[in-house]
Amino acid sequence: MKDYCVASPKLSVVIPVHNESANIAPLCERLLPVLNRITSIWEIIFVDDGSQDDTLLRVRDMSLREPRIGAVSLSRNFGKEIAIAAGLDHTRGDAVVIMDADLQHPPEMIEAFVERWNAGYEMVYGQRTDRSDETRVKRGFAHLFYRLFSRFGEIDLPEGAGDFRLIDRKGVEVLRTLGEKARFSKGLYAWVGFKGTGVPFVVEERRFGDTKWSFRKLFRFAFDGIAAFSTAPLRVWTYLGFVISFLSIATALYFAIRTLLFGTDLPGFPSLIVSVMFFSGIQLMSLGIIGEYVGRIFAEVKRRPLYVVAERIGGAAEVSSSLV
Ligand code: UDP
Ligand code: MG
Repeated sequence: MKDYCVASPKLSVVIPVHNESANIAPLCERLLPVLNRITSIWEIIFVDDGSQDDTLLRVRDMSLREPRIGAVSLSRNFGKEIAIAAGLDHTRGDAVVIMDADLQHPPEMIEAFVERWNAGYEMVYGQRTDRSDETRVKRGFAHLFYRLFSRFGEIDLPEGAGDFRLIDRKGVEVLRTLGEKARFSKGLYAWVGFKGTGVPFVVEERRFGDTKWSFRKLFRFAFDGIAAFSTAPLRVWTYLGFVISFLSIATALYFAIRTLLFGTDLPGFPSLIVSVMFFSGIQLMSLGIIGEYVGRIFAEVKRRPLYVVAERIGGAAEVSSSLV
């Protein structure tokens, strides 16, 4: 292990929170003993992702009692992915653990993560062994997504690996340079590379509150993932175009021969209408796909910052001067 800075904590924990007020205390109760067992030089950075409840107040309470707990409060809800990016920017640890606030990621696992890290792995990810807590439909879609991604994506995603992980400072610094807006973190972690290993774990029940993921958001997220790491959706139209042109030539030939042999019987309205509809459908769809990518290019070229910090609390405040 390298000592980057004498005063810097060895281990940082980043926890994105959005309306998790009831989970903060139980989480800290379980997390603090674990961290203390590992090292006394740790820090927790909560990233308040525009919570509307008193999450920030709870975090502030914690921070007053335990100065190693800090927080970054974002000016509005930017989404979990960006909240994590904001958290990473404020960590100082030689290794950073990312975890959810709802106790679905058992804090005790961090000990196993650190063990692997000490053994030389730079990226240690929790790998969920069963997804039985999810509905069949959701699992089906997750499976489909992984299949599509492994077929068309440019990188390999370890199945079942999510945000619950430990990343060495080296990896964190690389992640911080990736400023893309439509962030698909799983893909970004894999893109970073380095020596990685998985530690199996069982996802626990959510303690309080509801999941913040609607089906629509998950779909959006999956599409972001594919679009960020693959150009297959753009290219597929070329192939489809070929197939369709071939089909239309074949159809034209068929009609020509039929007319030569048997003469015309119908003016051919149905086939005309069908083909017009078919082609306009295809064109609209392909325009839509191009639109998705153009939208992304637009979002990137605007060069807006990823997030806006409203306030820093506790330990996280000190970092601001060194970073800005
Ligand atoms: N979260 C966030 N911003 C959001 C949505 C979620 O910071 O817009 C946080 C949330 O507070 C939790 C973590 O991300 O700590 C995981 O969220 P959730 O439990 O809703 O997701 P799931 O476990 O269902 O994947
Ligand atoms: Mg959860």
